[in-house]
Amino acid sequence: MSLLQARPGKTVSLELALDLVRNVKRGHPWIYPEALKSRPRAPIGSIATLSHKRLAPDAVGYYDPSSPIVLRICSVDGEALDQAWAERRLKTALALRARLFPGGETTGYRLLNGEGDGVPGLVVDRYADTAVLQLDGLGPAAFWDKAGVAAFLAAELGLARVVYKPRKGEPEALVGAPPEGEIEFVEHGVRFRADVVRGQKTGFFFDQRENRAAVRAFASGRSVLNLFSYTGGFSVYAGLGGASEVTSVDIAAPAVEAAARNWELNGLDPDAHRVEAADAFEFLAGAGGRTWDLVVVDPPSFAPSRAALERARSAYEKLFGAAARAVSPGGALALASCSSHLDEAAFLELAQKGVSAAGRRAVVLTLKGQGADHPYPLACPELRYLKFALMGLD
Ligand code: SAH
Repeated sequence: MSLLQARPGKTVSLELALDLVRNVKRGHPWIYPEALKSRPRAPIGSIATLSHKRLAPDAVGYYDPSSPIVLRICSVDGEALDQAWAERRLKTALALRARLFPGGETTGYRLLNGEGDGVPGLVVDRYADTAVLQLDGLGPAAFWDKAGVAAFLAAELGLARVVYKPRKGEPEALVGAPPEGEIEFVEHGVRFRADVVRGQKTGFFFDQRENRAAVRAFASGRSVLNLFSYTGGFSVYAGLGGASEVTSVDIAAPAVEAAARNWELNGLDPDAHRVEAADAFEFLAGAGGRTWDLVVVDPPSFAPSRAALERARSAYEKLFGAAARAVSPGGALALASCSSHLDEAAFLELAQKGVSAAGRRAVVLTLKGQGADHPYPLACPELRYLKFALMGLD
């Protein structure tokens, strides 16, 4: 099976106009158009070399002249981008997961995290015997051979099926039959079912796994409000951690219905879980002064682009403030942001502004991010997108 569609024969030669040699050598995988001397015409996904007088050997990657990321660097060690290279990268990524998740306590996790696993643009999530593959744009779609990657993963891991979820259009089974209904998996021993075809992203947000565990460890005896609950990840962990009652709020009705099912799947008392399909801002505005001992806030990215950042900042600040007002005296507030355009310092500043606007003070108990199955190159902080802070309030 072939893992790459790109063929080593016709290589595009690119030259750095800017001296980004140190960044490239350190492992920053992205080149923007303005950093290149010229952008030759070539098919999207062509293998390309990147040269500069102080860079030896040349870096190699794949080219997309139509994208703001014009080159995704795959190696700076003089490797050829061939089948053997791709196989080494995939096997290294699988070995990391085998180390992270021995023993079957966690069967849902990210298997391949693009740049962080040295497989730029290729993302795969595993749900027990099912994997869901995504490609981050036209370049990745032309470089990787998705059917070959799917067959390789199925053979290595004994998967029953691999589903491709394109950015637009219908999901497609690459290996096996399309799933019928939801797929069950465990995360730290907690049971979930996900709809990988109709659900958001690949069906579940594995990046919050360790943060959900932090909430579980903190929930005993507390009333919990989980905003932007999706299918109840934080809610179920809080319930299993001994929360007295949990309220899950998400704007998507199918998500909160799934949250109710996931709650019961874990043997929790249905009377201790309330779900509401509502806008989180409106829910907080209509809370009528009601407070909870622990409020979890995990919104979607308000800043999908750098241009949207200013408006996003005020949305986060307003949300964090309203959430802080809904925390009981001496309670706790867990805030998250998955916007890559907001670094940790900026995130904490917005948390501070929100907490202050609510007339409260906070201490940080835990500061976390994406789990180890979502690695990112140290040289590329843009790919460290998830921030999570658990705070105690006065
Ligand atoms: N915390 C979840 C993941 C949240 S993803 C988990 O651990 O699995 C973000 C969620 O926010 C999505 O489910 C989306 O439906 C929801 N959402 C988006 N805008 C919203 C809004 N204005 N009010 C409430 N929920 C919203």
